[in-house]
Amino acid sequence: DALSNKIAAGEVVERPASVVKELMENSIDAGSTIIEVEMEEAGLAKIRIIDNGDGIEEEDVLTALQRHATSKIKDENDLFRIRSLGFRGEALPSIASVSRIEMRTSTGDIGTCVIVEGGKVNTIEKAPGRKGTDIIVTDLFFNTPARLKYMKTIHTELGNITDVVNRLALAHPKVSIRLSHNGRNLLHTNGNGDVRQVLAAIYGMNVVKKMVHIEGNSLDFRINGYAVLPEVTRASRNYISTMINGRFIKNYALAKAIQEGYHTLLPIGRYPIVLLNIDMDPMLVDVNVHPSKMEVRLSKEQELNELVTDTIKAEFKSQEL
Ligand code: ADP
Ligand code: MG
Repeated sequence: DALSNKIAAGEVVERPASVVKELMENSIDAGSTIIEVEMEEAGLAKIRIIDNGDGIEEEDVLTALQRHATSKIKDENDLFRIRSLGFRGEALPSIASVSRIEMRTSTGDIGTCVIVEGGKVNTIEKAPGRKGTDIIVTDLFFNTPARLKYMKTIHTELGNITDVVNRLALAHPKVSIRLSHNGRNLLHTNGNGDVRQVLAAIYGMNVVKKMVHIEGNSLDFRINGYAVLPEVTRASRNYISTMINGRFIKNYALAKAIQEGYHTLLPIGRYPIVLLNIDMDPMLVDVNVHPSKMEVRLSKEQELNELVTDTIKAEFKSQEL
């Protein structure tokens, strides 16, 4: 119902960046190869996401807007082998409950256009059939004034959005992603599958030239990615990006293990630029910790952290002073 959707929205839709993240994840889950994200006023005025994915069948559109309606898992066992980005069936109804949504979607034939305001479906009608989904979210948090007041400056919200989009672009180099704000282009990846191309789009070619490929294995984990030479550092931990099975995660111990790998090569208060992907049995990771799906609980954490530290250490040992 409307109230429980609004309560769930409090957890799922914290800020404009959460909307962008959830909608882009839906586009990726739908097999899109091109995703365009347009925003105005850091998403508070407008967020529009256009994809060329599978689209939603006419008869499923209203279901998709209901809570716990997910087409991605069928039973509780699936929870332990989650491969899709979404699985809780909460995002669309949550976003819809705190904004105005205009969605056009089509599986290739005739499409559907639905307008939802504050969680209430206003219009649902047939629309031209271009395969994919086009969602326009306006007036975010119009009916939750407390949440609206809590929004930081446009600058901060925009920073959060670019973080989210950059991460998704890094995790999905085969998807061409374009991000624009108030008509200005902020990111454009070409979808050629090469993660270095995405790194270059985000950090610039000069940084990418100073990144080395890293790779390592242990019994339960396979890690690979790119680590910047110790001479290029940043004043923030934000440039350490970690993924498990293609999903971005936040894990303090893991970031620490990466820094540990640089050992004495990092000046105090300086951090490297690293992209690390970890492949592992999904059974060893619990992603269902928080609705944002960013925090994870890991089994065999010690083994993983040692592998990460040792792999980076081996790469840079020769350079140690
Ligand atoms: P979840 O992603 O957890 O399944 P959501 O509320 O985000 O839940 O989405 C509900 C359902 O709507 C999805 O399971 C999917 O079937 C459908 N859907 C949402 N966005 C898209 C999209 N861009 N393309 C195709 N299907 C979508
Ligand atoms: Mg989703």
